[in-house]
Amino acid sequence: MQIPGPNDPIVTPRRPAPARADGKRPLLGLAKPALREALIEAGIPEKQAKMRSQQVWNWIYQRGVTEIAQMANISKDTRALLDAQFVVGRPEVVQAQVSTDGTRKWLLRFDDGEEAECVFIPDAYRGTLCVSSQVGCTLNCRFCHTGTMKLVRNLTPAEIVGQVMLARDALGEWPSATGPALPALPEADDAPDDEEAPYIPGAHNPGANYTTQGRMLTNIVMMGMGEPLYNFDNVRDALQIVMDGEGLGLSRRRITLSTSGVVPMMARAGEEIGVNLAVSLHATRKEIRDEIVPLNKKYGIEELLAACAAYPGASNARRITFEYVMLKDKNDHDEHAHELVRLIRKYKLPAKVNLIPFNPWPGSIYETSTDQQVSRFSNIIFEAGISAPVRRPRGRDIMAACGQLKSASEKITRAELDRRAAEKEAAWVD
Ligand code: SAH
Ligand code: SF4
Repeated sequence: MQIPGPNDPIVTPRRPAPARADGKRPLLGLAKPALREALIEAGIPEKQAKMRSQQVWNWIYQRGVTEIAQMANISKDTRALLDAQFVVGRPEVVQAQVSTDGTRKWLLRFDDGEEAECVFIPDAYRGTLCVSSQVGCTLNCRFCHTGTMKLVRNLTPAEIVGQVMLARDALGEWPSATGPALPALPEADDAPDDEEAPYIPGAHNPGANYTTQGRMLTNIVMMGMGEPLYNFDNVRDALQIVMDGEGLGLSRRRITLSTSGVVPMMARAGEEIGVNLAVSLHATRKEIRDEIVPLNKKYGIEELLAACAAYPGASNARRITFEYVMLKDKNDHDEHAHELVRLIRKYKLPAKVNLIPFNPWPGSIYETSTDQQVSRFSNIIFEAGISAPVRRPRGRDIMAACGQLKSASEKITRAELDRRAAEKEAAWVD
């Protein structure tokens, strides 16, 4: 079976979307027209369907109700009709952890028992939710824990939107059933981006609209488990719901999609989703990128940067983020930084670089670059006029940092890791 993406087939042990044991369908994740259709199929008279679907939508996305029974302005009989066939739909929380730095991680279990993780990262200016797009990942970046997972399935729109809903439940940021709706967030995210201000638990953190206006979750990054561009349709449909002004209302400027470089899907991502783009570059030379991001053997660096240059919507006001994981003595030499600057200039990219110190995990084969080398690397890029902040690892104590996400802790040997990598690469179709 193939993952969606007409130009880029990749074979994967993807499983079908889960069905609930009770046969009910989740309402979560249905776009407005699909929601209306679903209500008609369930027996709501056609002339009422528009109004009913609007009511249901508002209860779900503006009030955060988790039960159909809570939809107070819908008659009892209609609620019973809906209740017999639908659930609102929330992933089950198997584990919730809070780091000493305020980062929270949830391990979620879906209807078929598969699990994925979702992480909330508060800083002084914004609250960012890191959302997963797949269970596992069909790619196999050598430094990434998720890439070692064997099982892979795409998350459904309900499961992707469900992560946002769940985070808002846990952060307590729904208004009451009768109180005023939450004030809309400003569309643009004007908080300073290049400096990092620590989140101070318990204090008023001024930049974000924390607590006083009840909005802690201000930004979303598709940087959890999985490669979002190998689950294109579901990610697009889910993000469209997240961006809808009559619901969760997070603008496309507050959402960032990170890809390891699925070149054929990048233009569509810009056109059909329109969110900010982050690209996991991690190396500037073929032999190094081939090793650490094996997808590079299929879509090389130059091809990837050309696709970035053509990304719809990229501009100096909306720069493309290049993520660069700092691996000691692998990709962290001064010359690599100079090469990165040369490439960004060659393709005239409106770019910023995020330097991510490598986050180790049990069994990982790389080491984190020294702090001194990370600053040298950052300075070289910065002196060329390109911003290159170093991302402090967040939630390391609860294994919530970048690339550490992996639900089942499974002990695997190096040989098994290599075997899985080879198997996944062999599945690529050219
Ligand atoms: N699959 C997508 C998005 C998920 S990974 C992608 O690869 O872009 C989100 C980011 O975390 C990517 O830049 C990824 O390369 C980085 N990452 C993965 N493992 C890491 C690790 N162990 N330490 C630091 N960053 C890591
Ligand atoms: Fe997949 Fe991204 Fe991890 Fe690579 S870094 S294995 S693409 S999740």
